[in-house]
Formats: sequence, structure tokens, C-alpha cells
Amino acid sequence: MGMAFTCRVCLCGRRRLHAIRDTLFQEIWEKLTSVKFNTNDGKSLLVCYICCAQLRKSHELMKRASEAE
Ligand SMILES: [Zn+2]
Repeated sequence: MGMAFTCRVCLCGRRRLHAIRDTLFQEIWEKLTSVKFNTNDGKSLLVCYICCAQLRKSHELMKRASEAE
């Protein structure tokens, strides 16, 4: 099993994985990592359901913090 079938965030390969390309999860991931999501670098385009939930929570936190300003 190569990197293409592991979670991009936690590198786990045993959980249910979701393709995040062109989704809100891609945008959140890019904000968190300050890295552009490159689909041609051979790295995984998948994120496990647990990290997806954490990305969603991070998004909510970022939104709440911005709104409070
Ligand atoms: Zn994960």
C-alpha cells in the first residue's frame, strides 16, 4: 500500500478515506498547512473520516474567531 492510499493528514491507511480535491476540506487543509494542494506530486489526495471531522471543526473555529473580530 503506497502513500496514495493513506490519509494525507495522519498517514493512517486503515480508516475510511475521502477524496478532498475541489472540496471545502481542500481549502481548510491549505489554510492549515499553508501548502497548495498539488494533485501531481504523487501524495495522497485522501483524508480519513476522523481528520475530515477535525478539519471541519478547525474551519468552524477559524470562522468563529474571524467573526469575533
Ligand atoms: Zn487521518
